[in-house]
Amino acid sequence: MFQAQCHCGNIKLIGNKLPLSITSCNCSICNRIGALWAYFTDKEVQISKGNYPVSIYSWGDKTIDFHFCSNCGGSTHYTSILNDNTNRVAINMRMASLKIIENIPIRQFDGADTWKYIEEK
Ligand SMILES: [Zn+2]
Repeated sequence: MFQAQCHCGNIKLIGNKLPLSITSCNCSICNRIGALWAYFTDKEVQISKGNYPVSIYSWGDKTIDFHFCSNCGGSTHYTSILNDNTNRVAINMRMASLKIIENIPIRQFDGADTWKYIEEK
């Protein structure tokens, strides 16, 4: 189990287990957010929020909602809005402490072009 939260603490996430790896994606949105993603299902993550609204950004084919704090701007997680029963929730591990993420390998995902992990190309 681990915790992650935005800078002001408005959005808090609890993951039920540490990820085996973290993904750095070079697509246009992930590159700008600077996120390091860890993937879960909605049942594996508890999400709570404080007094400030959670803002949502969706673009392109609108299959993903990116959630960020309306107070501090921290991009905390994204959720899949596809009707494919994956119920994916990705936690931005940048919102967890460095101590938690320093021992987890980071994989480079080429979301900008080939849609594959770099080591698989
Ligand atoms: Zn915040």
